[in-house]
Amino acid sequence: MCGDLGPHCAAEKCADSSDYLCDYPVGEGRTCDLPLCESHAYEVAPNIHYCPGHLILWQEFRASGREVAELENVMPFKERR
Ligand SMILES: [Zn+2]
Ligand SMILES: [Zn+2]
Repeated sequence: MCGDLGPHCAAEKCADSSDYLCDYPVGEGRTCDLPLCESHAYEVAPNIHYCPGHLILWQEFRASGREVAELENVMPFKERR
């Protein structure tokens, strides 16, 4: 670890630099925004990445049979990546 790598991955015990932000909607038009490295940013849809914790939530959400309409709400906010 040297130099200015910017925010590093928020995953436990991971020191990689973050190239992604968690896109999981947390309400009021906001997203989780946890910084994630390439290996911890789980792509659930094109250009939509979730942190490990939110990936699990999302999988449970899907498994529950509810639709992903809420997740689509987050698309307009993608631009600030
Ligand atoms: Zn990581
Ligand atoms: Zn997250």
